[in-house]
Amino acid sequence: MNKKKSYLWINVAIFAAIFVLLPLLFFPQERVPELSYNQFKAELKEGRVQEVKFIQDVIIGVRKAEFGEETPQFQDANPSPFNFMAQEERINPSRKFKVVLINDPTLVEELDKQNVEYKRVINNNWFENNFSWIFSLILIVVLWSFFFKKMGGGSSGGILSVGKSKAKLYNENDNLKVTFKDVAGIDEVIEEVTEVVEFLRNPKKFQKLGGKIPKGFLLVGPPGTGKTLLAKALAGEAGVPFFSLSGSDFVEMFVGVGASRVRDLFNTAKEKSPCIVFIDEIDAIGRSRSRASMQGGNDERENTLNQLLVEMDGFNTDKTVLLIGATNRPDVLDPALLRPGRFDRQVGLDRPDLQGRIKIFEVHTGNMPLDDSIDTKTLAAQTPGFAGAEIANICNEASLLAARYDKEIVEMIDFQNAIERVIAGLEKKNKLINPRERKIVAYHETGHALVGYFLPFSDPVHKVSIIPRGMGALGYTIQMPLEDRYLLSKEELLDRICALLGGRAAEDIIFESISTGASDDLNKATDIAKSIVKVYGMSKKLENISLTESQQNNFLGYGAASRDYSEKTSQIIDEEILKIITESYERAKQVLYTHKDKLEELAQKLLKEEIIERDTLVEILGPNPNKVDTFSEEPKEVKDAKAS
Ligand code: ADP
Ligand code: MG
Ligand code: ZN
Repeated sequence: MNKKKSYLWINVAIFAAIFVLLPLLFFPQERVPELSYNQFKAELKEGRVQEVKFIQDVIIGVRKAEFGEETPQFQDANPSPFNFMAQEERINPSRKFKVVLINDPTLVEELDKQNVEYKRVINNNWFENNFSWIFSLILIVVLWSFFFKKMGGGSSGGILSVGKSKAKLYNENDNLKVTFKDVAGIDEVIEEVTEVVEFLRNPKKFQKLGGKIPKGFLLVGPPGTGKTLLAKALAGEAGVPFFSLSGSDFVEMFVGVGASRVRDLFNTAKEKSPCIVFIDEIDAIGRSRSRASMQGGNDERENTLNQLLVEMDGFNTDKTVLLIGATNRPDVLDPALLRPGRFDRQVGLDRPDLQGRIKIFEVHTGNMPLDDSIDTKTLAAQTPGFAGAEIANICNEASLLAARYDKEIVEMIDFQNAIERVIAGLEKKNKLINPRERKIVAYHETGHALVGYFLPFSDPVHKVSIIPRGMGALGYTIQMPLEDRYLLSKEELLDRICALLGGRAAEDIIFESISTGASDDLNKATDIAKSIVKVYGMSKKLENISLTESQQNNFLGYGAASRDYSEKTSQIIDEEILKIITESYERAKQVLYTHKDKLEELAQKLLKEEIIERDTLVEILGPNPNKVDTFSEEPKEVKDAKAS
């Protein structure tokens, strides 16, 4: 890309140079000194002038030979070899002069009187007069065709084929690097996907039994869970032609292009049938039409979507084209896309569980030289809630860290650091913080840690640090669940809020003044409190009702985020949220008062050592008498944790 750009600039520079230099080559300007009109008149009166020529608005004059300056050697006034418009005579240039003509009726009289030869020259050199615009025209034509070719040369197929689809075609025999082996921990998904592909390859088998081949399915899941990866693997393993493109490939600044690209895509696909068409990030075109028009509207995208819907309905059974979409925003998709006969199936990809994470770690550490102490199970246990992309990132970071210290193998400590880096951002060891602020940060973090440690239901504290990391974090406390959690009790949520408020509570107690450092904590705490009241129906006054904003479209098609509860209820919600926060804050302060000596001790230790690990914490604080082991029993396999 960069290379192309610099080529372009070189070309432009050459054209510009030619444009400026060529006229100079062809019409070298004679360097004739200019006289003022009265100087000229004076010379004329003195009889020094031999002849004058009137050329348009100038007079070119030649002095008599005896008045020219002495020049030992004859100098060519026009040294250019290209000077084909030669002067009639070669005159010592010092004898020449030029004057701009002034309306002077007595001039001719004077010229006659002095016996000067004079004539008017009509400049009828058509080429010379018109050179500049002819040249500009040529230049424009050349540049234009040049840019045109440039645009045509790209992989997009050029400006003339703007309406052609940009789909990339993978064939069976393409040597694709991604296989199903690279996709770990989502075996059920792979199974389901390959089953559908099997329909496609062998339609007779299913049609015989009266089954209809699904037209399309949608891969749905949070970012980084491997949707794109799965599609790439499928491209290699499906055994049929595979067209791949992204939703944004349809979007172009020209009106109508998106729709025509959809048409073109399906025409090509039908020719190659049976085949698969994969549209990644389909929400780029599939956004709900009504909602889009609320936000100012985008007819272009709407047309594209309409065309897509038309094409999906269009293909008949003997032209088998399977459409696969991927999105992490199924909620914004137009309901029409999800109707039976279109994307009839949704395949959900979730963040991997412990087993899944172990497998993903195995895939990504596969070709890393690992220390014997590394156990993918431990790594997976330390990364609850992480998606595949984050795990891939951790493995990469770990090998980079090991390389930085010139290690031959990657060790556990590298993984530990990589995990922390992914959670909290880059360490900024040499960020300067003044001692007073550092002290505040130390007490703040100790506050989080202590409250987190002593509350019965909060997640175990993993590490406390006052080394600044990432964007704006001056310190951090890592709390991590021991296992994957699918359900949370009200007590656990409240304890989470409490631990989040522990930072500010500690500042309040020790310094009797509070700082801005808690803003992110407050944000998170308030979010949880809001969910307790509105989503989970866990507050006293609004028990067991869900008050989430509904996103349903009404009959006019306006999908406003409508609030379907009264003003009074909304007041109660606010009160309940405030009550939860206030009570939690009091509870956090209570914990800290009770253990104020430990607060001092830990904070001082943190100031000295910057990092306190879990082991040290347990050593100083002792076993927690209140801790409730939420997983006293071996976890059983949970099939449908979110069942309502
Ligand atoms: P999505 O498209 O769902 O946002 P991607 O497929 O682009 O996520 O995943 C990004 C990267 O994360 C992949 O290239 C891969 O390295 C890693 N990854 C994600 N999920 C998995 C998985 N299930 N197994 C192995 N690697 C994965
Ligand atoms: Mg993706
Ligand atoms: Zn905090």
